[in-house]
Amino acid sequence: MSLTVDLSGKTALVMGVANARSLGWAIAEPLLAAGCRVGFSYQGERLKGELDKLLAGHAGVWSQQADATREEDLAALFARVREEFGHLDYLVHSIAYAPRPAMEGRFISTTSDDWNTALNVSAYTLVSAARHAEGLLRDGGSVVSLTYHASRQVVPKYNVMGVAKAALEAATRYLAADLGAAGVRVNTISAGAMRTVAARSIPGFSGLYDEAGRRAALGRHATPEEVGKLALFLLSDLGSGVTGQTVYVDAGASVMTMPLPG
Ligand code: NAD
Repeated sequence: MSLTVDLSGKTALVMGVANARSLGWAIAEPLLAAGCRVGFSYQGERLKGELDKLLAGHAGVWSQQADATREEDLAALFARVREEFGHLDYLVHSIAYAPRPAMEGRFISTTSDDWNTALNVSAYTLVSAARHAEGLLRDGGSVVSLTYHASRQVVPKYNVMGVAKAALEAATRYLAADLGAAGVRVNTISAGAMRTVAARSIPGFSGLYDEAGRRAALGRHATPEEVGKLALFLLSDLGSGVTGQTVYVDAGASVMTMPLPG
């Protein structure tokens, strides 16, 4: 058995790269390095410039604007996937959003509009993207998304986003059941706190970040590169028996209640 990951002849769609710090980009980089052909979708035109800069110098890549909450954008995006690739091996969902007021106050004050927005953008879009991808995904295909431990334990100010991540993790299990007969796997990566645009919009993020590093079993933060390595495992044939799972890469922050003394 060879452990070198060669993804030449494979195709991937990565949804949700905003800039070089995005976890979506940390996942795309090893895919590109392994020879995978990769298409990208970005939420709005203001993000195109940053993505174009990242893609310069990579051969055979393409990108298309798609707001993941808009059915017509998803239809056009997956029509493009069909046109460019003919099929899809890997789908990466790296998308989340909650309105700022929902993360500033108490969870009990969450409005139904903010609830609907957070769960729609951060959880339902995985379901709709998987549905659009279904006819393109082949046996051996794999879907990966990003979640966070606030789905299971209270993280102050994470509020409705914690509920959205719990929905994403449950959706992962149901999607795994739906797509399993076709040989397609669905997993979600629970990443530790990392400094990205989305993370910076969480009130009190730097305190949360510092605490995670202090507490982690490895005594440090997990890195975006480590998210990329786990994604490569889950997407490729290395992860062939793994589906429906929430897999942690957080340097062991979630298994500790407090730092060890000394
Ligand atoms: P990021 O800001 O780089 O990426 C979030 C992406 O979501 C952006 O590209 C944004 O444009 C996109 N997005 C938001 N609404 C969208 C919509 N309607 N349609 C299409 N795209 C939309 O931040 P990130 O931290 O890399 O976030 C990626 C994923 O990782 C998210 O699911 C996030 O919850 C998850 N995550 C992040 C951390 C962390 O600490 N950074 C930890 C665990 C999980």
